[in-house]
Amino acid sequence: MIKIQNLSKSFNNGNNKIWAVKDVNLQINKGEIFGIIGLSGAGKSTLIRCINRLEEPSEGKIFIEGSDITSFDKKQLRNARKNIGMIFQHFNLLFQKNVYKNISFPLELEGLSKKEIDSRVNTLLEYVELSDKRDAYPSQLSGGQKQRVAIARALANNPKILLSDEGTSALDPKTTKSILDLLNKIRKEFNLTIVLITHQMEVVKDICDRVAIIEEGEIIEMNKVEELFKNPKTHTANAFISGLKSDIPDENFSPAEFEGTLIRLSFLGKSAKKPIVSQMVKKFDIDVNILSGNINELISTSVGHLILELSGQKDEIKKAMDYLNNENVNVEVI
Ligand code: ADP
Repeated sequence: MIKIQNLSKSFNNGNNKIWAVKDVNLQINKGEIFGIIGLSGAGKSTLIRCINRLEEPSEGKIFIEGSDITSFDKKQLRNARKNIGMIFQHFNLLFQKNVYKNISFPLELEGLSKKEIDSRVNTLLEYVELSDKRDAYPSQLSGGQKQRVAIARALANNPKILLSDEGTSALDPKTTKSILDLLNKIRKEFNLTIVLITHQMEVVKDICDRVAIIEEGEIIEMNKVEELFKNPKTHTANAFISGLKSDIPDENFSPAEFEGTLIRLSFLGKSAKKPIVSQMVKKFDIDVNILSGNINELISTSVGHLILELSGQKDEIKKAMDYLNNENVNVEVI
């Protein structure tokens, strides 16, 4: 539905040329919530802003439902943008206008009648649960309420795509969760495609179907979220996932400090909930020492990680590890 082909974007910084986005290739499916995660300065914002040409790509093409929007003239682009709503970290509301006027603004630009506008704005206000704030000004709203107004405004023209430029980064964790729930509801009810950029793995974990990791303007890893959690390939992916586990003991165990064999297990979905370890202990003549573990609930499934020390005869340990593999558990000797 969105196809990004060999996209690059450079900025001239004095005598220097900075390549903020380098040869990015992506395909984002209809109805998908696609996350782009990276550290500050990685090129996330530039990349997402190229999708609706708030930033003009230097090279490459962007197809939306088959049409290359990089070839569009101003008028075609204005029309295309009606199908692409966008929300921002700092909401970008009109502070001199009340909630109603903020949401009605894009509809007025469309030339809708007063009656049509009134009906649409009231529906949107109900949808984002802000009917009682219709006459309030942005300064009288909490961060979460401001983002709900921005979401209602972004949905006013019934777009097919919603872009979120760090849409939850300025919000506390509880409000973030409620905004992510709202985005998920929107995706389901309107079959909207959502592309979001974030520096928070929590956001990816809670809402995204697939994720791309961007570093120095390049996509270095891309996968379904559950696969990324189960088997992260790059150091950066590992670091983002480890960031989530700050409340469990450090996983940097040194095998030299242990007599047994250290293994790291990762498992998805049903396997995460089965008592696989206790069954393994019963089946094989080994001792098991659990060193650390956690389970992350993703939008589609759950992913578990465990670090175990196995002690016993080599062949029993080997059989136990084969058993784990047969139970769809990834086993890695540390
Ligand atoms: P992120 O959103 O991941 O923090 P950005 O896309 O904002 O990253 O920035 C990527 C790189 O491009 C950074 O090195 C940044 O300084 C540079 N950059 C972004 N916008 C501009 C601009 N308008 N002019 C010059 N350099 C820019």
